[in-house]
Amino acid sequence: MGVLTLKEYQKKRDFKLTPEPKKSKASKKYQNIFVIQKHDATNLHYDFRIEIGGVLVSWAVPKGPSTNPQEKRLAIRTENHPLEYVDFEGIIPEDQYGAGTVIVWDQGKYKNQRDIEMSKALAEGKIEIWLKGKKIQGGYNLIKTGKNKQGKEQWLLMKANDKKADARRNPTSTEQKSVKSNKTIKQIRQEYEQDSQKS
Ligand code: MN
Repeated sequence: MGVLTLKEYQKKRDFKLTPEPKKSKASKKYQNIFVIQKHDATNLHYDFRIEIGGVLVSWAVPKGPSTNPQEKRLAIRTENHPLEYVDFEGIIPEDQYGAGTVIVWDQGKYKNQRDIEMSKALAEGKIEIWLKGKKIQGGYNLIKTGKNKQGKEQWLLMKANDKKADARRNPTSTEQKSVKSNKTIKQIRQEYEQDSQKS
């Protein structure tokens, strides 16, 4: 199965230039945490990350999570991120990997719904979790479907059919603000540009 590492994450970044965290410090507050970051990079997308084995196992979800069980959302597995990344919000400078603006769109704890360990569920390609976020709640399933042309794992993120399912809600379009700062991507970007003009 292999240990989940941060090697690929660290190799891709220059920590003298990016404000992103470098390492994971194990702490109880990060246990079973999840975060959904909205990331305005080359393409706008959402990053879905859940704590497994001391790192944030991560997927890029182009359309973000849906609250409608009928809508399957493509999720491309990306490199594991450090635990501290759950609170990362701000600007990744130009020329750096993932250059653009990031907000903490949602955050909370999750519960494993299967009776096997999360690391095994990940290796099997079948994750069933219950999310307790501010915007996103209830059961979600992540199913591995194969690999894309670049060799990256392709998964589907789906809302389970439970009491938190709601086909009429569309949180990615109606709830645009960070749960951390209450700011939008646009506000974070504008403040950054104003600050860099002053200095
Ligand atoms: Mn991203």
